[in-house]
Amino acid sequence: MAPVLDGVQLCAKGKGCYTLIGEYRMTENEFFPHALGTIAHELGHSIGFHDLYDYDKQVEGWPLPYLFSLMGHGNYGNDESDNIYRRGFVPQHLDPFQKIRSGIMDPEEVTENGEYTIHPLSAENSNILKIVTPDPKEYFLLENRQLTGFCKGLYRKTYGVNEKGEDCHFCENYKEGGVILWHIDEDIFDTYSVIKRTNGSGTWLPDGETEGTERHDPGIVALFKNGFDENGLLKNDGVFVTGYPEDPFYRKGDVFNSNEFVSAATHTKSLNSFPEGVSQDTYNLKVEFIDFDEATGDIKIRVTQTK
Ligand SMILES: [Zn+2]
Repeated sequence: MAPVLDGVQLCAKGKGCYTLIGEYRMTENEFFPHALGTIAHELGHSIGFHDLYDYDKQVEGWPLPYLFSLMGHGNYGNDESDNIYRRGFVPQHLDPFQKIRSGIMDPEEVTENGEYTIHPLSAENSNILKIVTPDPKEYFLLENRQLTGFCKGLYRKTYGVNEKGEDCHFCENYKEGGVILWHIDEDIFDTYSVIKRTNGSGTWLPDGETEGTERHDPGIVALFKNGFDENGLLKNDGVFVTGYPEDPFYRKGDVFNSNEFVSAATHTKSLNSFPEGVSQDTYNLKVEFIDFDEATGDIKIRVTQTK
């Protein structure tokens, strides 16, 4: 039986469960201890979080969140740029959608055009901005990942150069953080949620089904500043596990326009569904990153939504 404490039952779906984690991760190319990050990731499953990585390596061109979710590759965060054995010592934050859904954080809702401030995730007053759209199940989440606290463990290259100028593995860290901007479609997440439900050709399948349906983007997509190409691969590098987004962060001076992002699956604009009266041709969310406070890490934005 699943353990119950203070009326809360651990383990998803009411089943008894346990987590088995090997002491080391060993593949053809890798050998390192399973540190805190993997324990945190697997505990996440017991709480009910979903994987956000492609563990069958079946989904070609699917916009992954990489290190920007504990349930993606975030369990491998490494703050020390010359030591692969530190991989996983500094696990990364959960994606903001699963934080909100599990009740870890409540978002600050943005329902009107105007100026708003995003505080760093590591700050005591940290916040997640939720910009609502005409579809109540579809919205944008913004978080500020300054490279402080656990965010020090964000690295950008599988193979890179460490601080001493030597070649290294899983090591070249980001030099500067900023805002990560996510597109959420709850309907898609709730229907499809887990990547393993593909039929081997990159087609997502609803819960319990084994035959293919229409392919589409996942419900949780980080719209990195670099962007994705029309196949959902990162524009700079992109191949699964060999690269991480070169510069995914929005900073002072940057401008995001949702209509510049195109679905990898359907090649339509980034909102997955357009409610009645909202045209794909005219809808746009514009976010201007207008100020950065170096002392606090706060980032100020201006939101302009055109329906
Ligand atoms: Zn997992």
